[in-house]
Amino acid sequence: FLASIELIPDGTPEPTRTMDRAADPVPAAAGPFHNAPDTDPSLSANRDWAAAIRERMPHSTVGRDTSERATIRTPEELDGAIAEVAASDWGSRPASERAAILRRAGDEIERRRGELIEVMGSECGKVIEQSDPEVSEAADFARFYADGAEALSRVDGARFAPVRVTAVIPPWNFPAAIPAGGVLAALAAGSAVVFKPASRAARTGAVIAEALWAAGVPRDALRLVRPAGDLGSRLIGDERVERVILTGSYETAERFREVRPGLTLLAETSGKNAIIVTPSADLDLAARDIANSAFGHAGQKCSAASLIVLVGSVGESERFRRQLLDAVEGYAVGMPWDEASRIGPLIAPAEGKLLRGLTTLEEGQSWLLEPRQLGEALWTPGIRLGVRPGSEFHLTEYFGPVAGIMTAETLEEAIDIVNAVDYGLTSGLHSLDEDEIGLWLARIEAGNAYVNRGTTGAIVERQPFGGWKKSSVGPGTKAGGPSYLFALGTWTDADPAG
Ligand code: GLU
Repeated sequence: FLASIELIPDGTPEPTRTMDRAADPVPAAAGPFHNAPDTDPSLSANRDWAAAIRERMPHSTVGRDTSERATIRTPEELDGAIAEVAASDWGSRPASERAAILRRAGDEIERRRGELIEVMGSECGKVIEQSDPEVSEAADFARFYADGAEALSRVDGARFAPVRVTAVIPPWNFPAAIPAGGVLAALAAGSAVVFKPASRAARTGAVIAEALWAAGVPRDALRLVRPAGDLGSRLIGDERVERVILTGSYETAERFREVRPGLTLLAETSGKNAIIVTPSADLDLAARDIANSAFGHAGQKCSAASLIVLVGSVGESERFRRQLLDAVEGYAVGMPWDEASRIGPLIAPAEGKLLRGLTTLEEGQSWLLEPRQLGEALWTPGIRLGVRPGSEFHLTEYFGPVAGIMTAETLEEAIDIVNAVDYGLTSGLHSLDEDEIGLWLARIEAGNAYVNRGTTGAIVERQPFGGWKKSSVGPGTKAGGPSYLFALGTWTDADPAG
């Protein structure tokens, strides 16, 4: 901890220290990349720390626009900020210097773990169990892309020139990790950044930006836009912006391309993800992973599993249904400031297709577990039986706490059912049979294919994250993977003479 304090540039006030868990994180040492540890809730000091954070959470801001901390608020300010960012010397600094600043950013993010958990809870309804790993992921991005910045400068036989300006437009559902990932990747590549957080996650976005500035990222290399009015469309429409990193729906990506044809987008978009369970599976593990993947953060993840495809005898198994219900019914639904809550609220009251998904059965369907509305945006999880191939539920992303069970005679048929979906973000298989695993891996159409694991919570470096089919728009490089930075600049062959 002391070592990282000394690295703060002169004149920068030490940020409020919110990291008072049982043990401080070990400052990231030079050396091989390692993932930041999450907070261990089995230690009583950490439980006290978590309780104090819940106490501090304001109760009234979930789903509200809280963007008062942004520095760019008008079209004129946006115009000036893009000019300033385009003129930044960030990209011409040595990779080693940029990497050192980004590693420090990892420490600054971890130092704000408590503050980030607090704002993620109050703004986005995230329970600590969900937001704590997100802070680790954000810190991981900083350290991982710092290594990437240095690696880029050492590529033989070709030269990489970063773009000057990247816009980062993240969603509200991972309000710390996704913006941090985009901003840090662009900075690592050598591009300056204009960052427009989601309107429902603007305070979390501001804390991330402050962590980066405190680490030494210059003000002219990172500007924060107030997410209001038409500033977003102006930003993506501005020709000086050479790359846009977006996480959002497929429709949003399409709209961006209409606003600016020819725009180079790196977009991770929608998902309708499935977990297949075969008779060879460890059914306890499958039930637990399904419950967590379908209902963690109330299913509001692009990576959430909302189809459960049961093969052969598993489809008939009363016992497996009971196991699944036991796993799901253990999740208490409530606001993030209540200690018991495992599933938090929806970001807004359910409407449109999500409301339909929570309330309306299609022909042949019944509820294994019927969702109940507990409060304005609080819903208990729902599981429907009898989802048929080609039905609305089979093919639609709902982005909420509702999953559907489908059945197949064989694994081949189950794979066909999953691949019939337009999207291909994450996919899961529960099987202990090597041949089944091999078949599934060869045929499944998904960016992130997980065997005997849930479909959410990709870990930086170990599980680079990104989609396939309509779950990705752009070059298809994966966040937290070795090639993500490559698309944030242009390549030329080395000068043969020199
Ligand atoms: N990276 C997240 C995960 O692996 C999902 C991000 C998203 O929902 O967009 O769960």
